[in-house]
Amino acid sequence: MKNDLRQAASEARLRAYAPYSSFRVGAALLTTSGAVISGCNVENLSFGLTVCAERVCVGKAIAQGEKAFQALAIIADTETPVVPCGACRQVLAEFAPSLMIISWTLGGKSQEFSLAELLPLPKQGILEVPCGTWARQ
Ligand SMILES: [Zn+2]
Repeated sequence: MKNDLRQAASEARLRAYAPYSSFRVGAALLTTSGAVISGCNVENLSFGLTVCAERVCVGKAIAQGEKAFQALAIIADTETPVVPCGACRQVLAEFAPSLMIISWTLGGKSQEFSLAELLPLPKQGILEVPCGTWARQ
């Protein structure tokens, strides 16, 4: 399973659109139905519009009707395995707060994480009614 995910992430990495940073990242999500959905980073001249490989995977998965995930593979050309950025952690936690994440370097180093340890309490306090709001109405 891990090798299939790594391979899918690796192939997606080669399709990354990264003309500004040349930092290519590939990712692959394994859904609970067994589907593997890959993605790569997509940069933009307006840097803030860049989308990470992990969020591309989530968007593709949702569009394909998949929203239950069991593992995510990531691969990049770094010295140490990369971890998802904060924005991606929050997006992943929407669907799988305890997602297993396996990250590889091109050189073959790997490291495993639980999303729960990378982003504890992802939903606490969000969308709660602020204290006292009802009393003022
Ligand atoms: Zn990200």
